[in-house]
Amino acid sequence: MRALLSGNEAIALGAWEAGVAVGCGYPGTPSTEILEALIGYPGLYTEWSVNEKVALEVGLGASIAGGRALVTMKHVGVNVAADPLFTSVYTGVNAGLVVVTADDPSMHSSQNEQDNRHYAVAAKLPMFEPSTPAEARLFTRWAFELSEQHDTPVFLRTTTRLSHSKGVVPEVDRTITPAKHPVGVDQNPPKYVMIPGHARVRRVEVEARLAELRRVVETHPANVVERRGGVGVITSGVPYSYVREVLPDASVLKLGIVHPLPEQLIRDFAASVETLYVVEELDPVIETQVRAWGLGCHGKDTFPAIGEFSPEVLRASLGLPQPGSVAAGDLEVPMRLPGLCAGCPHGHVFNVLRDRGLFVSGDIGCYSLGVLPPYRIMDTLVDMGASITMAHGMDIVLAQAGQTHGQRAHVSAVIGDSTFAHSGITGLLNAIWNKRDGLYVVLDNGTTAMTGAQENPLSGERMGHENSTHVDYVLLCRALGMPEQNVRIVDGNDTAAISAAVDELATLPGVKLLAAVGLCVMEAKELRKTGKLAEKKAWRELQLTAACRGVRTDA
Ligand code: SF4
Repeated sequence: MRALLSGNEAIALGAWEAGVAVGCGYPGTPSTEILEALIGYPGLYTEWSVNEKVALEVGLGASIAGGRALVTMKHVGVNVAADPLFTSVYTGVNAGLVVVTADDPSMHSSQNEQDNRHYAVAAKLPMFEPSTPAEARLFTRWAFELSEQHDTPVFLRTTTRLSHSKGVVPEVDRTITPAKHPVGVDQNPPKYVMIPGHARVRRVEVEARLAELRRVVETHPANVVERRGGVGVITSGVPYSYVREVLPDASVLKLGIVHPLPEQLIRDFAASVETLYVVEELDPVIETQVRAWGLGCHGKDTFPAIGEFSPEVLRASLGLPQPGSVAAGDLEVPMRLPGLCAGCPHGHVFNVLRDRGLFVSGDIGCYSLGVLPPYRIMDTLVDMGASITMAHGMDIVLAQAGQTHGQRAHVSAVIGDSTFAHSGITGLLNAIWNKRDGLYVVLDNGTTAMTGAQENPLSGERMGHENSTHVDYVLLCRALGMPEQNVRIVDGNDTAAISAAVDELATLPGVKLLAAVGLCVMEAKELRKTGKLAEKKAWRELQLTAACRGVRTDA
């Protein structure tokens, strides 16, 4: 039976068919729906991990114990996971380990446009890049096979367009029982204990494996040559579809594996065409290698290095006429800025901070919209958890300049609950330990709202809405060394309570933490449909009382 699936749903299908035992990751657009689809399949375990580094380590541990593991994250999440990623290439795997990096050309929902193909080159692991949902499913299965055959983690790269576009996936049978890798912890310290003496040996292994992979990709079925006319195009991923539409008579080398590149295949293809183009979104990764081999081609001299491609972009780059439809640029479309949902509790905190004219060190989440009208209250935003650590850095310099405690109380930080768990707690510990001053506000709506309301360690639920433990702010802060009077938990919809807490905390020395507990109205809408809204509201209200100490009473 055929099925109409998004790229993300197809990856989940491919992973299940491959007998994946563990799926884990941190939610981040455009990768989130992979695990949300995977949880619907039987016979496997899924989790939202607290961050991408943790997720990759969970996946590597599962692999060493004999369970195939799928680890998902958006492109910037790979920055967080880079530490275990690079060394996991040295240890290799037992059962297959596939890491999905979902890149975001044009930054539809991201703070930068990094091209994660560079990670495959730098960390020396193979990377698949499918063009369609059908390939996303197939390449996921191939990625697990390649991982085990060559004892390496394998990247699967998608972009927003593939992750969220739907396509026909053939021969879907959800009644099968996928074969599983044999389970058993592989005790092999020279392979898995990366002390320098072992790592030096494995370093040689990494290069030998890469040399072998260079041979494998020359004939791997993921790399396909389509022979037509004298114009030749090397491409990969979603741009393949645009090439077929804009240059239907061109010969095409479609690379399904973008690292390592098949040198001889590319040389032969280049020799068989009169003019060679490399069509790749973002950085000239393929083009640079092709030129390094001494092959002439057109790449970034013709196509842009910034932003997502489309048939229109390719036609404009090649000087070809656009089809006769009305170009979007000719339409009068009123500009609409994104904004918080009506009724979002974050607005109450924003109003209080704005009324006091505070400098706000911001973070990643819905609340980053606080930089826009009507609030205009955010002054910095860089990466997950940076609100607290950057406010810390500012506090140091302002103190060096002789500013009093009262003057430095002008700097605050805001961070959401999921981001706080992801990488805010380490910054909080660092600030307390280093005896800094600062007011840090956790905008706690008990969910990872920006990516569609996934559970996190502040939700009282784990993946699949299963009741679980909950971080208690007072106990956490006390354990980290903060006096209890420096912690406040207030109703995020109560402006008067937020105002009073901010003013009172501003008078206290040291690090202060204010948790504004509310409910995401978008999540509430969904909970109302499933009849779970009253339960969540009751749980949120319980958090405002001293009765809440770490564990849900109904967990
Ligand atoms: S999704 Fe939730 S947290 Fe995000 S703006 Fe809307 S109400 Fe606020």
